[in-house]
Amino acid sequence: MTRVLLGLGSNVEPREDHIRTALDFLQEGDGVRLGAVSALTVTAPVGGPPQGDYLNGACVVETDLAPRDLMLRIQAVERRVGRQSGTVRWGPREVDIDILLYGDRVVHQPGLVVPHPRLTTRRFVLEPAAEVAGDMVHPVLRRSVRELLRALPDREGRRTPRVLTTADEMRDWVKSCRRNRFTVGLVPTMGALHAGHASLMTQAYREADRVVASIFVNPLQFDAASDLQRYPRTLEDDLLVCAESGVDTVFAPPPEVMFPPGFRTKVSVDGLSTVLEGAVRPGHFDGVTTVVCKLLALTLPDRAYFGQKDAQQTVVVRRMVKDLGIPCDIVVLPTVRDPDGLAMSSRNRFLSPEERAAGLALVRGLRAAEGLWREEQRDAGALLAAAKGPVDAEPGLVPDYIVLVDPDTLEPIEGPVRRGLLLVAARCGPVRLLDNVVLG
Ligand code: AMP
Repeated sequence: MTRVLLGLGSNVEPREDHIRTALDFLQEGDGVRLGAVSALTVTAPVGGPPQGDYLNGACVVETDLAPRDLMLRIQAVERRVGRQSGTVRWGPREVDIDILLYGDRVVHQPGLVVPHPRLTTRRFVLEPAAEVAGDMVHPVLRRSVRELLRALPDREGRRTPRVLTTADEMRDWVKSCRRNRFTVGLVPTMGALHAGHASLMTQAYREADRVVASIFVNPLQFDAASDLQRYPRTLEDDLLVCAESGVDTVFAPPPEVMFPPGFRTKVSVDGLSTVLEGAVRPGHFDGVTTVVCKLLALTLPDRAYFGQKDAQQTVVVRRMVKDLGIPCDIVVLPTVRDPDGLAMSSRNRFLSPEERAAGLALVRGLRAAEGLWREEQRDAGALLAAAKGPVDAEPGLVPDYIVLVDPDTLEPIEGPVRRGLLLVAARCGPVRLLDNVVLG
């Protein structure tokens, strides 16, 4: 038996009955067994004379008929359902069944070409095909149906992300991903995107079938109104970064979509949220977990991507996902740095050249500690002293904390270190700089 992918279409009412009857007829007699049938969706006709919209879908059959015999069976079925022979090319039809893929066979015969020549260019064919046979491989292009669908350009021929702003639009997008059995990757951001964000998006593009990036300056996680107000908002540039990084959809809701009138819920991770960064910025992590939880609920991703740059945030989010049983893998990726070593951050644009130079003392401190670690130094005090040295010597920095903690519990480590997270935070002119290294 060979697995065959068929395209289904009808634009003469009753369209769905025509398709379902044809599938019944197709199974009559030996040699064809019907497998999965996709959802049937309405699409506008392509080419031909003016005519009604199509209902399109796809199905899988198992067959021991040879390709030509299967085609003859299909043509007999189409006639039985009422399709007139000799109809106008690309004209209206009661039912139209195309052999899209026949196992891994390549067929070039009069009246029969498999894989179907237009399989790779038509969204209305590839979408239902991916739903029932996303794993089937095009024998010439060596790409799966799912990959072919993913590579399909939009109408302008560019891969520009769609921008969604409402919860309903977001849910519809997720539903269509689910229908197509696509995995979804989420990259939550506050915009003003840089190469650090792009690294998360690119990795999501590699690992998930569809990527949604959220761009939302979350008022709940700001402790000072002035900081919220001056936070950079650069949506147009951000969309270019998203397009180049493989993002399919950008979710950029206004605050009232995320927090409509009457919103009263707070998600809070006890303990982990109130130490270190949480002690300096009370309420900050409650804002983060509340918004991340809501984004996860709206986008239902298989994986969500975060930067190690905000190390405590990753610990808090991981704990929340675990505690609440949210079925989403949290992926944490390394900090991306500018050539001088400073960790990239949307707020770095507010630094003067002198402030930036002062900020680099944090990086020197972390590197000194890393160097000692590589030389087998395992004493917490010595590692911390190495990190603090350059920071204390830099008058342009006001440190908030420099600590060595357990990477999972954030509890301070004293004495010998097996694995540690060295966290630094300091005020530098108009911004606070955060950085860290993992030791071990
Ligand atoms: P933000 O827009 O600052 O909320 O950051 C969105 C995501 O990007 C968070 O998961 C950050 O940790 C991550 N991120 C920010 N800066 C960097 C960076 N320099 N390298 C890697 N990831 C980053």
